[in-house]
Parts: sequence; structure tokens; C-alpha cells
Amino acid sequence: MAEIRNFKCPCCGAPLVFDGVSQTLDCSSCGNKFEVETLRQLEQGANDAAKESKFDWTHYEPRNYEPEGEIDLASYSCPSCGAEIAGDDNLGATICPYCGNSTIVKRNFEGTLRPDYIIPFKTDKDGAMRAFENACANAPFLPKEFKDKRVVEKMTGVYVPYWMFDCDCDISAVYAATRVSAWSDGRFDYVKTDFYKLIRAGSVGFANIPVDASSKTDNRYMEGVEPFDYSAAVDFNAGYLSGCLADRYDVSADDSIERANERVKNTAAEVLGSTAMGYATVIPENSSISFSGGKIRYSLLPVWMLNIKYMDKMYKYVINGQTGKVSGEFPTSKAKKVRFFAAVFGAVFAACAACVLAFTHLM
Ligand SMILES: [Zn+2]
Ligand SMILES: [Zn+2]
Repeated sequence: MAEIRNFKCPCCGAPLVFDGVSQTLDCSSCGNKFEVETLRQLEQGANDAAKESKFDWTHYEPRNYEPEGEIDLASYSCPSCGAEIAGDDNLGATICPYCGNSTIVKRNFEGTLRPDYIIPFKTDKDGAMRAFENACANAPFLPKEFKDKRVVEKMTGVYVPYWMFDCDCDISAVYAATRVSAWSDGRFDYVKTDFYKLIRAGSVGFANIPVDASSKTDNRYMEGVEPFDYSAAVDFNAGYLSGCLADRYDVSADDSIERANERVKNTAAEVLGSTAMGYATVIPENSSISFSGGKIRYSLLPVWMLNIKYMDKMYKYVINGQTGKVSGEFPTSKAKKVRFFAAVFGAVFAACAACVLAFTHLM
């Protein structure tokens, strides 16, 4: 019993005394009674949740690309934005897909890093253009003449580098929760609040957490075309690069880990938190997450990059090469915007007038 005598009351901190008759540990200070096993679990849970979080990713060892004899690769570099892209030697890339600059320089292929996986293009150029037209049709305030006056500078299929993170993690947490009940006996109203300590622990498996590995792609554009269907990913083969460009990563796997950790932490906490149901309030007090053997893979994902010139301004669009989802900023017409607001104000004014009329009529 020496071990048990050391328990303190989880509610008020006073020492607990074992009651042989009820087989519980009782607090003489606040009057609560606890089962021994409950206190053990509580202590264990609190200890687990207080542990420092541990993220153990297997270090990513880059592998050099070995030409496989299927297609000849060339390297292209853009003096304007610094993009270094690999592509089909026959493609004759002349315009940088990132910034639209037309003085892209072809170099001897110097080798690039070999991806583990690739999601092949599913949407061809025509399909991507149709997806873009649809997006135009739904863009609010798009100037009418945009379709006629725009100049499609270039549309290029680009494989964009991504780090994919896989892991199985264990998470434990302690929550402070309450349940509130209310009743009345006719003379008085009663409100009773029960206070709970919730101990939760579980395992969550993650597959394919994507982190953009290129600093040149604007994250907003890339996140705008997510999600990709990762079940279509296949082992990398240079044949898929035929007719396309492939960017190489310039943000290392190690530098992307922090972003993957954030996504793992937030999602695991959300999943665990969703098990604390049926309480009036649930406040997380402590949580700890750990995993080991997390895997990192280097993948290429397909997007169409579209550069459009309209009224002397360059507009950039990214289109998901698998689903056709479009992301980018559309020009807006001021005249249309004014008309739209006028129409709304007009409608509100008409509705008010109708109210006044109805009111007058009743009088
Ligand atoms: Zn107590
Ligand atoms: Zn460029």
C-alpha cells in the first residue's frame, strides 16, 4: 500500500487515504472518492501527455538520376527567376513556365535528382484549356473582352516537386471537461456542473502528406489546385517526362519537415479531440505526440502552367494536370462591379419600398 498512499487528490491536491471498506481512496478535504485503478490510469495518462513530442523522420538520401535511354533530357535555366528545369531534349522549351520570360537558356543535361514517384498527367492541353474556360465562365466580374483580347503566351506541362511524408504516430492527451445539468423542484432552480479529467490515447496513420518542394511555385497557387489523387502515383520513369518539363526541388526534405510536423500534429490532435464527445466543454491541457520511422519520398506532381497577357499585364494560372482544378487571379471589370452593386442596392431599396407600402396599406 506504500505506493497508493502517495496519491494526491486530483481535484484539490490534498493527500488521499485508503478506505478498506469501500476499497477507495478518499479525500478528507473535498470529499471525493476514487478507485485505485482510476488514479493509476490518470497518473499514467498525465505522464504520457507530459512527455516531449518526438518526430523521428528517416533521413532522405537523394539519389542521382541515371539516364535510362528512353528519352534524352536537357536542362533549362531561366536567367530572370532562376528556375532550373529538366525536360525532354526535343521539347525546345523557350519560355519559362514560372515567370513567362522568353530568354530561357538550354544547357547540357547535368543530372538531376531522381524522384521516387510520379503522378502522370491525366488532362491533356485541350482538356486543361477547357477547364480554364469553365473557370473563366465562373469568375465574377471578368471583363467581357477578356476572352478576345487575352493572348495565351504559353501553356506548359510541368511536373512540380513535392515531398510526401508517411508516418504512424501515437498521441496522448489530457482534457479538462465539464457536464452541466439543470433541474427544478418547483421552489428552486438547480444547476450542477460535473468536472472531468479525460485521458485519451491512440494511434493515427498518415500517408502522403504533401509539402511543396519548390520555392518558385507560389504556395497559394499550388494549394489552390490540391488535392491530387495519390492512388495514381507510380514508380518514377523518365518516359513520363516526354513533352513536359520537370522542376527539381530547391527546398530540402529536412527544411520541409517542420511543415509536415505541423500538419501531423494538428490533424492527430483533431482526430483524438473528436473522441471527447458528450461534454459541455472540453479544454485540452496537455498533449504529446511521437512517431518513429516516418518515411519521406520525393514525388513529381503534374500541373499545367498557363501565362496569359491581358492589357499589358501578365496573369499566371496553375491547372491540376490530373483533375483540371484551376487556381489563379482573374482580372476584374470595374464597370461590371459598379453595376453589380447598383443592382443589389436597387433590389434592397425596392424591398424597403414594398414594406412601406404594405405598412401604409394596413393603416
Ligand atoms: Zn480533494
Ligand atoms: Zn523564369
